[in-house]
Parts: sequence; structure tokens; C-alpha cells
Amino acid sequence: EKLIYFFKEGRSEDKELLGGKGANLAEMTRLGLPVPPGFTVTTESCMKYLEEPSFFERSLRKDILKAIKNLEVETKKSFTGDEKILLVSVRSGAAFSMPGMMDTILNLGLNDLRVQSLARLTSMDFAFDCYRRLLQMFGDVVYGIHKDKFNVRLQKMEKQFSKTMADFQENEHLQLIESFKALFIENDTFFPQDPIDQLFEATKAVFKSWNNHRAKVYRDMHEIPHHLGTAVNIQSMVFGNSGNDSGTGVVFTRNPATGENKLFGEFLLNAQGEDVVAGIRTPESIEALQQILPEAYADFKRYANILEQHYKDMQDIEFTIENGELFILQTRNGKRTAKATLKIALDLVNEGLITKKEAVLRISPETIDQLIHPIFDVKAIQNVELLAEGLPASPGAATGEIVFTSEKAKEYRALGKKVILVRQETSPEDIEGMIVSEAIVTSRGGMTSHAAVVARGMGTCCITGCEALTVNEELKTITCRERILTEGDLLSVDGSAGRLYLGEVPTVVVENDQNLQLLLSWADDYAELQVRANAETVQDLKKAIEFGATGIGLARTEHMFFGEERVLEMRRLILAENKQEIKLALEKLLTFQQEDFYQMFQVVKDKPMVIRLLDPPMHEFLPHDFKEIKQLAAKLDKYPSMVEEQMKRLQETNPMLGHRGCRLGITEPQIYQMQVEAIFNSAIQLTKEGNTVFPEIMIPLVAEKEELAYVKGFLMDTIENIFKKHQMEPFPYEIGTMIELPRACIIADQLAQDADFFSFGTNDLTQMTYGFSRDDIGKFINSYKERSIMTQDPFQTLDQNGVGELIKFAVTKARQTKENMMIGICGEVGGDPKSIAFFRKIGIDYVSCSPYRIPAARLAVAQASI
Ligand code: ADP
Ligand code: MG
Ligand code: MG
Repeated sequence: EKLIYFFKEGRSEDKELLGGKGANLAEMTRLGLPVPPGFTVTTESCMKYLEEPSFFERSLRKDILKAIKNLEVETKKSFTGDEKILLVSVRSGAAFSMPGMMDTILNLGLNDLRVQSLARLTSMDFAFDCYRRLLQMFGDVVYGIHKDKFNVRLQKMEKQFSKTMADFQENEHLQLIESFKALFIENDTFFPQDPIDQLFEATKAVFKSWNNHRAKVYRDMHEIPHHLGTAVNIQSMVFGNSGNDSGTGVVFTRNPATGENKLFGEFLLNAQGEDVVAGIRTPESIEALQQILPEAYADFKRYANILEQHYKDMQDIEFTIENGELFILQTRNGKRTAKATLKIALDLVNEGLITKKEAVLRISPETIDQLIHPIFDVKAIQNVELLAEGLPASPGAATGEIVFTSEKAKEYRALGKKVILVRQETSPEDIEGMIVSEAIVTSRGGMTSHAAVVARGMGTCCITGCEALTVNEELKTITCRERILTEGDLLSVDGSAGRLYLGEVPTVVVENDQNLQLLLSWADDYAELQVRANAETVQDLKKAIEFGATGIGLARTEHMFFGEERVLEMRRLILAENKQEIKLALEKLLTFQQEDFYQMFQVVKDKPMVIRLLDPPMHEFLPHDFKEIKQLAAKLDKYPSMVEEQMKRLQETNPMLGHRGCRLGITEPQIYQMQVEAIFNSAIQLTKEGNTVFPEIMIPLVAEKEELAYVKGFLMDTIENIFKKHQMEPFPYEIGTMIELPRACIIADQLAQDADFFSFGTNDLTQMTYGFSRDDIGKFINSYKERSIMTQDPFQTLDQNGVGELIKFAVTKARQTKENMMIGICGEVGGDPKSIAFFRKIGIDYVSCSPYRIPAARLAVAQASI
């Protein structure tokens, strides 16, 4: 079996075997670029060595020796002799780039004798500069002696001799080397003089670094498998530190921040390796190279262009110039901001390098999220303290002063301050405070808790389930470990990552709408399922349409019962003792809601809109403390004791499993009747005014075929009467049901007989299938993740094995009854890219998500369809 590949033998497709760096070095060699010759020890060798260390002496050793022999022939230099000195670099490189995880050793092969020969052949300063670098990197990578310890010694010596190393005499250089070597001894080891020993030890050290704690953590974080291993690249050295016509640099072929098509990067003259990034001297911008070394610059430009054309993407290139001659040492697809990602993809299409389809596939939905929400400045974030982590409930980034109540939020806002609303949990009463806040943080609750759903709807950044915080709303304090925060303290919230920082962090906003629109219009051409919106307020509906929703998949009606005036009428209805009271309350509610629906239809126009009839349990509409009860009783002209008694009657042990959804529709049909009357009155009026509207009425929480048949029956009667009353021919509308109980999935074929459409309410369906309260999952989901019991929050990404199977079963059954039945998804996972791929596979017609998730969902839908 082949354990080693020379650069001229590999290709860029061999990343898994040769690592990213090795595969690209091979590809560049094949393309004829000036890459110093070398070879790659495979990732498989690494895994074999880690499993069984004797593998090295048994097999690998002789292959490396043979390869070194070949390299000597190829370079016409010697790795062990004193003439024509061959030095190499030993460079780690895994299939996935793992920045800063495993290190590189340069100038390997030097020793006390060879440094003298090299000095004779070149210059003394150069030779000793190389040697002390080798000692330093070797000590660091192989023996874990920190680089700084060497630097301290160097500085001490420079001080002692009152000059910089560049001006050292030979004996001073020798003293420095002795001092470095002594550092090895102090660490119970020594620096091996034999170049071959150096090479073997360095290779083993790079192999072992695969299992560094840091490396493991990084892989866990980025879901990189642990069994891949790292390759080791052994490459003949070229020297950027051999004078002022030499140097080293790092360049992006396009600007990684803006995407502008112009070289972007830096170089240092007379420098080696990491000097550019280490910040010892200030590097110069790549443009300056054109004046200093015009030929090398021209060559670089040419190669940069070849690489871009070849990889069809922006490249991040490392190069070295030795006595005016350019060498390319690394290339990879460059990391970039969301804004640059978009611009570069569109430019590459324009330049004919990639197709529209490739552009659509190349951009991740997360990138789209970053384009429509602010993000924290990457550099600034490193200077602030991470306070706590919670669930990334709604993307975006914001800084503000802590407030604990909706009132305080409004008050501060009126003073022009920016606020972060921090609570244990939010409830519908907090809505105004949530609207004026820059961000919302809750210590409890999951990805579909009230705070999370509302925040996503508004596009406000939000963290939920931040369990490390103890929020005391009375005392107005947040305790987190030993820290105590109070009202007015500054907090920065990263809703995309679920991270909470102390103090202020500047944000970066991207406004590149036109590019985004263009990309999404290309995406739409491939989409095999549609994207609708979960929205009900006029503002959200407008946003949804603007973001390209093809309709409304879920307009909830709860909000139409809240607000001071409305909740009073709802309470009047609940507490009514006679027909007159009922009639009065219903008439009032009807007037309010008719106006609401009129405005909603006006925005949505001829696009379909699924309107869900009232869903929450009754007791959510009742007052809770005695003072409020007394006030309510006075307003309604009733005895407080009567109100209290009624409240007790409505009390439920488990409201979410209680008297809600269609169950309420059955026992209190007048509420659903009032709602459809409001819907159709306004729909008819708009139709008369020359518009087309398309209402889809959705009945929630159905578990029994008879429930649906019963409710549908009286709704149809009501609707028929309304059309008659308006003397109008009925226009098309639909009555469907929300599938959110496991039983409904099982009997989907029966339900399909009475339903025009289905929409899966995956929030409740997940809650009911797992038996996890969606408001409490924040308490333990992170512990589950840490222990790998669950890797995903099922409220965030569909649980395909359980909930997904139920949905698939229901879809199959429903289509046995009605082949072309329209079936949608209206839970939060409707906006999640991984879940979307599954929904496409099982034949869902549309997903529906909150407005700000629509752009990313449109892209995800296209990617799932291609
Ligand atoms: P990293 O993965 O940390 O970027 P590299 O293996 O790319 O590590 O090495 C870092 C730097 O070391 C390179 O950018 C280059 O400047 C220098 N380097 C590596 N190999 C050689 C070589 N054969 N000749 C000259 N410089 C080298
Ligand atoms: Mg590199
Ligand atoms: Mg529900």
C-alpha cells in the first residue's frame, strides 16, 4: 500500500488522503506552478500510526527514507551532507482546514555542523536565522516548549549585546543557539542533531497533534469526524529570509470583506513563514510589491489568475520570493464575509466561471441570514467577556442596556436608549416591550417558546434557555456565576450563535439587497416546493411578501383577542350569564376582527392565506390576581366572587393538553362562527371592490375524524349564510386542518376525506410526540447534547426518525384519499435547511416560516430541489 505521494502524483480530489494542503500542492504542481518539490505522507499513515505506533518503525520509516532520497535527486541537493544543503519544511494538513491546530516546522535538517556550511555557502546571518527558527519551532511543536520561552531568551541576549540579532557576530549567534539548546535540556530532552531523526520526530509529532485536546474540541464544534487523521507534507525549503530581494506573503485574490475583484494581502521583505501574521514587523500591502519586485509581482498576478480560473473561486494564497524568484506554497478557497460571499458568487457567474446553478449551490442559507441581520464585528468580539450561552433563538446581533420589564423598555426607549429585554420567560403581555427592544434574552424556554417565536417573527435577535442566568425580575438583577448585573448595564447579544457578552460590541450591517434578490430569483427557478410565511400583523405580512413569500402558511388569530378593549369583550363572552351578554361581546369582537382581516387581505391580495381559528386554552384570557379580578368584575358589572368562581372552573392542570383548539370550537361554536363571519365579511367586501382573495380556514388540534366533520359542518353552514346575506355567488375558499397530534397522523386518510388541505404544526407535533414541553426543553437540551444523547434540538431541526416518520406516514395516507391534496409545514422547522431537504423528499408542497427566515428558506428549498 502506498503511504507517500510526491506532489507530482496527487490531485486536488485527493483531499481525504493527502489533506487539503497536500492535495492542492499536488494540483498546483500538476498545473506547472512554481511549487518547491516535496511529498505527502498520507492521512491513512497517520491513523495507522495512532492506532499502532510500531507501524512507524515497521513500515513508514523506510518509505520516508526512500522519498527523501528521491527528493535529494530531484533537487540535486543533500539532506545530510555538507554541500548543496537540502532543508525541508514539515507541514501538517488535514482534509478540513483546522486553523492553528497543528503547526509547521521550517528549516528542518540544520544542525551545529551544517549551519556552518550553510553560513559559508550563503551568509552567516541568514544561516543562523534559519537555525534559531528551527530550534524554536521544533521545541514548540515536538516538545511543547512554548515559542515565547525562546523569544524571551532572544530578547535577553539582544539586550545583553545591545544590538538586534541581525547584527550579531558569529560568537554571539553561537551563544544564542547554545542558550536555545539549553532550553531543551531544561525540559528533559535535547535537540536531535541528525536530520533524519529530526524528520522522524517531527512527523510523529504532527501525527500525534491530531489528538490534541484543542484539535478534538475544534472537530466536535465543526462536526468533523475524528477518524480522518492529518497528512504530513515534507517540502524542500525556499528562503524568503535571504535578503531584500526576498520575502514572504499571504494574498487573497479578491477582497474577503467586500468581495471586490482586486488582490488583497500583505508581504514582508527578508522574512520567513509566519512573520507576516506574527506582527513582528509591519507588512506592506501587496500593491507595493509592484514597485519593489515588479517581475515577482507580475508572476504572482498571473498565477493568482490561473488558480482562480482553475478552482473557480476566490483563493487564499501563501507565497515566498527567494532572490527575486517566486514560489507558491499554498492555495485554498478563501474564507470571506457573507457580503463578499454573495458578491463573489455573482461576479463569478458574470465572468462565466460558474453557472447560476453553481452559485445557488455554493452559498449557504446561514450566509443569507447574515445578510439580512446585523452581525458583530469579528475582531471586536475577541476583546469582550463571554457571559453565558443559550439557544440561538433568532439571528442577529445587538447591544443595549438591560431592562426587566416591558414598561421600562418603553420608558428607556422614549429617552432614546437602546435596550435588551431580559426575563425568565416572556408572555403575550410583554409584546410592546419586545417590539422596542434591540434583543430579547430569556433564562428559560426553548426554540419555540413565546420569546423565540415572536422574536423571529419580528426579526429581532433573541437568546432563549440561557440557563446560566438567574433572572430576578423583582430585584431587577441577573446573577451569572459570581457576576451580578443590574438595570442599565450593557449587554451584547449574538442571537445567531446564542452567545451573550458583557459590554458593547460594534455590529456590521450589510445592505446588498439587489445582489440578494438576484441570487434568490435564480434559486426560485429550481424550487420544487414553495415558501410561505407565518405572519399575521400587517407589518409582518408586508415583510413576508417583500421577502418573497408565495402565500401565508399560518396566520394566527390569537392576537385579535388581546389588547385592552378586545380582551375585555373576550372576558365578557367567557363570563356571560345570558344571551344578551354573549351577543354584545360577539358583535364587538366581530367588528374588531373584520377590520383586522380586511387589512390582512389587502396586503396578501390574491396569494393564499391560511387562517387558523382560535387555538389557546380559555384561561389564557382571564385575569390572574385579585386586584385585576375586582377591576374586571366592576367593568362587567358582576360580583368578584362570581368571576373568581368561573376562573376556578376554567382552571386546567395541563392547559396545553386541555380545552383548546377545535375542542373549544366544539363547546363554544359561536367563537369560530364569529371568526369566519369576520373573515368572509371582509373577503366579500374586498371582492366587491374588485380584488381577488383566497382564504384557507384552518381548524387546529384535530385528533378525531368527527371533530373535524362537526366543526367543518357548522362553519360551512355559517359561510353559506354569509354569502346569501351578501347576495353573492361563493368564490373559492378552503377548509383544512392542522396536523399536530400523533393520532391525527395515524388517521390522516380519514381526516383527508373532510379536509381540503393539511398543514403540519410541527411545534406541537414534536411536543406531543416526544412528550417534551416546548417551553421547558431549554432546561436539559444542552446536557443532552453534551452527552450526545441528542445532537439536535427537535424544535429547531426536524426529528426525522420519529416526528418525520409520522409526517411521512400521514402524507402517504392522505394522498391515498386525495391524490393532489395540498400539504404544508407551518412549524418552526419549516425554515430549517436540513428539515427542508427532508420535506422535499416526502412530497410536501410548501414550508412556512417567519418572515425573516424566508430568504434563507428560499435558497434552502432550491438547494434541496437541485
Ligand atoms: P499553516 O497551515 O499554519 O498555514 P503552513 O504549512 O502553510 O502552515 O506553513 C506556514 C508558512 O510557512 C507558509 O505560509 C510559508 O510561509 C512557510 N513555509 C512552509 N513551507 C515552506 C517551504 N517549503 N519553504 C518556505 N517557506 C515555507
Ligand atoms: Mg499555510
Ligand atoms: Mg399548535
